[in-house]
Amino acid sequence: MSREQEVLKACPTELFIAGKWRPAEGGKALAVEDPATGTTLCDVADASPADGVAALDAAVAAQAEWAATPPRDRGEILRRTYELMTAQADDLALLMTLEMGKPVAESKAEIAYASEFFRWFAEEAVRIDGGYQVAPNGKGRVLVMRQPVGPCLLITPWNFPAAMGARKIGPAVAAGCTMVVKPAAQTPLSMLKLADLMTEAGLPPGVLNVVTTSDAGGVMEPLIRDDRTRKLSFTGSTPVGVKLLEQAAGQVLRTSMELGGNAPFLVFEDADLDKAVEGAMLAKMRNGGEACTAANRIYVHSSVMTQFAAKLTERMAALKVGRGTEEGVEVGPLIDGKQRDKVKDLVDDAIAQGAQVLTGASIAEGNGYFYPPTVLADVPKTARLQKEEIFGPVAPLTAFEDEDEAVAMANDTEFGLVSYLFTQNLSRALRVSERLETGMIGLNQGIVSNPAAPFGGVKHSGLGREGGPIGIDEYLEVKYLAVSLD
Ligand code: NAP
Repeated sequence: MSREQEVLKACPTELFIAGKWRPAEGGKALAVEDPATGTTLCDVADASPADGVAALDAAVAAQAEWAATPPRDRGEILRRTYELMTAQADDLALLMTLEMGKPVAESKAEIAYASEFFRWFAEEAVRIDGGYQVAPNGKGRVLVMRQPVGPCLLITPWNFPAAMGARKIGPAVAAGCTMVVKPAAQTPLSMLKLADLMTEAGLPPGVLNVVTTSDAGGVMEPLIRDDRTRKLSFTGSTPVGVKLLEQAAGQVLRTSMELGGNAPFLVFEDADLDKAVEGAMLAKMRNGGEACTAANRIYVHSSVMTQFAAKLTERMAALKVGRGTEEGVEVGPLIDGKQRDKVKDLVDDAIAQGAQVLTGASIAEGNGYFYPPTVLADVPKTARLQKEEIFGPVAPLTAFEDEDEAVAMANDTEFGLVSYLFTQNLSRALRVSERLETGMIGLNQGIVSNPAAPFGGVKHSGLGREGGPIGIDEYLEVKYLAVSLD
């Protein structure tokens, strides 16, 4: 048996409900595809709405006991999860590459990133504090406690199959919440394997329940509308996020929304250009461009554009594209044919509007959903890819003349997740950072993701923050006691 087959065989494929693996109602199954070949890797259980309710039942039944578990015990389970993930990183990375397509080196980086959320929140579980305050009248006391919010629904996308779940499960477990997790239908395996590891780490039955399904709306809507659900945390596209917010409104359900992005990447004339190119490679090409944080629009001061474009083009053209399991591959396939068609349409539209192709833009024959690393110059403001998330390995370059124009172009979007800014002038760095309408800024660096930092966006990019010291707040309710000493 090949290593790929061994890794697949060791991954559970059923629903995980109340600590037990079980098939979907009626034995329904859904196929998981390898995006590098278009072939089926395996089948996983395809949950029905009734299976979803069973998962919520399990989460509700486990909530009270889990909330009463000593914080140290919850932290130890998270710590053991971190250790298990670290020990099994090679196998977990291969599994992820098989279902999602990214190169194994990138999958390993994601496993490390995901596991760090468990380590971080293992440490936060024992730091949930409250308050004691003398009331202004001197007689009363104000006591504040923070309690687990209760059963949560966690919905995650396909682009980071482990990290997007870890960023929610870590704080939910630390806070004492139970949960139903629904991973993306295209990448369910990493989450199923994680449930297996967390069980090995000692997580009690019912705390984490996983449902995989081809009917996301049919299974999740009744759970969102169920009064027993106390929290919805969603990572995915803005249109789906908006729909879920509408469903949540009826129950005044607490929500966290990590939605789409359209990151501007600004290179000023005083930037260290080599550093800026390095940053652009990271901001653009991490995850093959299939990241909410991906640099979507690259704005460069006109005086350094020629130099910057040449350096970036050289780097992009040299990238090795192929199946993520192959040695030396730096760019894998896109997730599916639909996504590749979208990238192609956006590039074709930009070219039709006058953009110049510096490299890429032509799809090679063969299996799998590959798209070549592409650099486009002179991209007009009216091109669709200035407004829409590309989610692919395409770097569109547009020149600007001054700071005001750069900031105006950067903010000209309904999204507000992250921006990147390259300058060696400290005053400019702070001045521009204050004016950028995004929840995060990469200053002279092309990556912002960090378990110790509050990740999240403004405008249509979402609500709430994940990670950092405030990441656990999303899973805690504040309760205030008015105490009279009279
Ligand atoms: P998506 O289509 O919105 O799907 C995300 C998740 O929602 C999947 O599990 C999906 O299930 C589920 N879903 C879809 N429709 C649903 C419904 N009606 N009810 C309940 N669940 C539903 O997004 P995606 O294409 O997987 O991911 C890419 C998007 O995620 C991009 O816009 C990207 O920017 C965003 N993203 C944001 C962040 C962030 O932190 N801000 C991080 C990563 C990705 P199915 O798989 O079955 O469709």
